Amino acid sequence: MKHLASQLLTVAKSVLARAEVLDLDRIAKLRSDFLMLMKAARRVSNYTEAMRVKGYIGKWSKDFDDYMYKYFQDQFANMKFREEVSESDWKYWDKLIRENTWPFYMEFSMPISKADSYYTEEMRFAKFQEELPKWEARVKRKALLAWKTLNNFVEWYALEGELPAKPFTVDVPIPESVMMEGFSVTLSGHDHVKKSAEYIELFRAGLKVYRAKASAVYPWLIQNQLPLVLDFKAGMDIGGLYERDHIRLNGYQSGNPEHVAHVLAHEMSHHRYRSIGRAAQDYWERMIIGDLGELDLKTLTEKYPDKYHTWDNKYIKNESPFLYQQLNSLQHSPSVPKAVKDANDIGDIREYLEKGGQTKVTIVRHPISGYASKNPEEAFCEALGYLVAFGPSRVPDIVLGWLKDILLSVKTASRIAHRPIKVDEAVVRDLIKDFFEFIKVSGKTHGASDSERFQPWDESEQ
Ligand SMILES: [Zn+2]
Repeated sequence: MKHLASQLLTVAKSVLARAEVLDLDRIAKLRSDFLMLMKAARRVSNYTEAMRVKGYIGKWSKDFDDYMYKYFQDQFANMKFREEVSESDWKYWDKLIRENTWPFYMEFSMPISKADSYYTEEMRFAKFQEELPKWEARVKRKALLAWKTLNNFVEWYALEGELPAKPFTVDVPIPESVMMEGFSVTLSGHDHVKKSAEYIELFRAGLKVYRAKASAVYPWLIQNQLPLVLDFKAGMDIGGLYERDHIRLNGYQSGNPEHVAHVLAHEMSHHRYRSIGRAAQDYWERMIIGDLGELDLKTLTEKYPDKYHTWDNKYIKNESPFLYQQLNSLQHSPSVPKAVKDANDIGDIREYLEKGGQTKVTIVRHPISGYASKNPEEAFCEALGYLVAFGPSRVPDIVLGWLKDILLSVKTASRIAHRPIKVDEAVVRDLIKDFFEFIKVSGKTHGASDSERFQPWDESEQ
């Protein structure tokens, strides 16, 4: 145990980052790579080629994103803290660089989408050809502003700095591949030596739990395991991200090893969902959408005091874990009005109703987690993720039944075999008991179409 940690610590100490000079040459290189990619985009003659170039552009953009908005900005902000640049200079340049490079970065993604059952490859390509000239003009105009701003910054910095002039350098993390608990893991940006080592240790413990539990519950996940990237520099505000051919994980995982195992299982579940086939996905979507009901906000405000927190109240959590999850899901559900999503306590909801807000909101009857309400795919990943990491008691029985229906080899507790898995009033009543008063069964569907935050280059790879 300790041995690996100390090994990793050695890794963390010896290979962290290389200092890259940001000068006029570096910007010229960015610009020439960009022009080369634009040329390639212009020359594609069919859908397959276009998707390939889109992939190259996506990879380049990702590097640009990391370089500009993580490493460069980190470095620059640090100079302010160390008083190497004045607060006002820092503010000025930081804002200017963001404002003048971000529109370019956002625009630089080839305007072609994946073919599907509605749009053939030919249709997608024809649409792309139609949009190409306008896109090219827009992206070039924005690129020009980006290069100009960066050049100005470099020139300003050279004049501003001490003599002899020191170039501006950016610390770019050097990824390090290691094997951890039998998984291939790439560590990236692990620069706070002691702190990183602690998180790496937690991650290692999470991997161990994940391997043991996934092997027992649903071995497919382990058999098809994607490589993992443990990223300490991505500034991720989420635990993990499924990026098609690998999984990116926030280096700073929170909680205990079981929580880490949940994140791993959740992200691998995206991989399963994407490969399970249209029929199984359709079935799952039908079940999830069929499970939507209504929550009566008025009854809610009558039952609970104003000061009760809407999405994190211990009393509600103990009294009814279901209602707790349902309230939690309000924040993530695409169909819920913003004022309700933003409500901090029951009082906020009461105020919203007094101002004439809608009384009923769509809600899941058998919540898996708050986040699961985002869309059916996330519901799948949360269900399988929780099942693997925390066991069948953490997932509503009815949902376990649906999982079992589409993942025949999933080993859930035998108790679910004795429970009805069809959605009906009796099951709902049984499961939510006195909270049934809030819930009215409704066949209403909502437009749950938000997808996981995918990076543009992922589309071309599968
Ligand atoms: Zn997800």
